[in-house]
Amino acid sequence: MKTIIEPFRIKSVEPIRFTTKEERIHIIQKAYYNPFLIHADDVLIDLLTDSGTSAMSSAQWAGIMMGDESYAGSKSFYHFEEAIQKITGMPYVIPTHQGRASEKILFTILGGKGKFFLSNTFFDTTRANIEFAGSTGIDLLNEEGKHPSFIAPFKGNIDLQALEKCIGEKGAENIMMCMITVTNNSGGGQPVSMDNIRKASEICRRNGILFYLDACRFAENCFFIKKREKGYEHKSTLEIAQEMFSYADGCTMSAKKDAFANIGGFLAMRDQKTIQECRNLLIITEGFPTYGGLAGRDLEAIAIGLEEVLHEDYLTYRIRSIEYMGNKLIEAGVPIIRPTGGHAVYLDAKDFLPHIPPYQYPGQSLCAALYIQGGIRGVEIGSVMFGKYEDNGHLISPPMELVRLAVPRRVYTQSHIDYVTEIIIDVYKKREQLKGMKITYEAPYLRHFTARFEMMA
Ligand SMILES: *Cc1c(COP(=O)(O)O)cnc(C)c1O
Repeated sequence: MKTIIEPFRIKSVEPIRFTTKEERIHIIQKAYYNPFLIHADDVLIDLLTDSGTSAMSSAQWAGIMMGDESYAGSKSFYHFEEAIQKITGMPYVIPTHQGRASEKILFTILGGKGKFFLSNTFFDTTRANIEFAGSTGIDLLNEEGKHPSFIAPFKGNIDLQALEKCIGEKGAENIMMCMITVTNNSGGGQPVSMDNIRKASEICRRNGILFYLDACRFAENCFFIKKREKGYEHKSTLEIAQEMFSYADGCTMSAKKDAFANIGGFLAMRDQKTIQECRNLLIITEGFPTYGGLAGRDLEAIAIGLEEVLHEDYLTYRIRSIEYMGNKLIEAGVPIIRPTGGHAVYLDAKDFLPHIPPYQYPGQSLCAALYIQGGIRGVEIGSVMFGKYEDNGHLISPPMELVRLAVPRRVYTQSHIDYVTEIIIDVYKKREQLKGMKITYEAPYLRHFTARFEMMA
């Protein structure tokens, strides 16, 4: 097979500022060893997130100029609405400023005390919005998805037996919705199969429970279905997406992911009464229903992005570039979550740094080392992000200590990725020299954003 190349030419470039290792040692120290506190200008390769960091195409930039900024009935809104209707088949669409705004509106309308929401794995903002509405979110990830090195095609699947069991236990009347996250971001960007989506949807329908998709990475998920699920190899990604959405009553979406936009999102559904209530809330919190917190130019860029993201040349390159990075690391013996998912490579910091116990934050130590060694910024997903304390002050760690290296869409080339793997392998070779971390400051909520650290002596 020939090399899979970037399916674009570069028309506009953004210079990267180079730093020396000595400078970086000083910079990360000044940032209290927290990559969130580093100025982006001091980062060489920024893999903090794939959210809002995509490169827009020349067509999208042209769309920015074509954006209709009319307060009501903007032409760009109708492009936006049409693009979403074509993919989802859902008649009602409202724009929001980003994914979590859709969640806030949806769960304010459908949530409430004593109600349950089920998922393969809820993304953190989704769960937070469910809980903020007084409801409870329950994750029902299938067993395969819980083992980092176990190879399976659809590790994002919901556990269908657990779903039936949960409905039996809680009572269908107390369960408002089942929402499947595609791909499963918090579970390593792993895909969900069409079979799983169809069956989960049938179970919900039978029990009178709403079935929604958290569709942030719907195109990446559809491409995995095309490549891995029998019967889909000859279907277009658009047809696969249309089938996938046909099983759902509605969806939420962050256009900062699979729409190549720097900001934006939407909420779409089939039920007229619910959308009416959502629109009323949208007007209070986001804006008039034909712009919902976005400029006309953003709506235009999203409409074009949604069309581009389903191009198979793009998706082939996208999924391959993550796999390429993962394979190079696997060959060098670096422990990662396998197989690689759609948008990121996850380093297994527990396995990488067995001499650093979870309470000394191995993921945070690895993040610091990657920055010092090569100016790479990733994010810890482990005891810093999800750790809780017992009453006696002991840390309760989550099951995995990970470092996520999320790849922005269409931003970095193969040589950037080669460089990243070289740096990771360099750090891996001297992993025994890495030291644990101690927290010197932390906020009561979402501490990972602002926490300060010190390296252990
Ligand atoms: C990013 C994301 C969200 C939230 O979207 P924002 O645009 O960041 O508010 C929700 N769900 C998933 C799976 C995501 O990845």
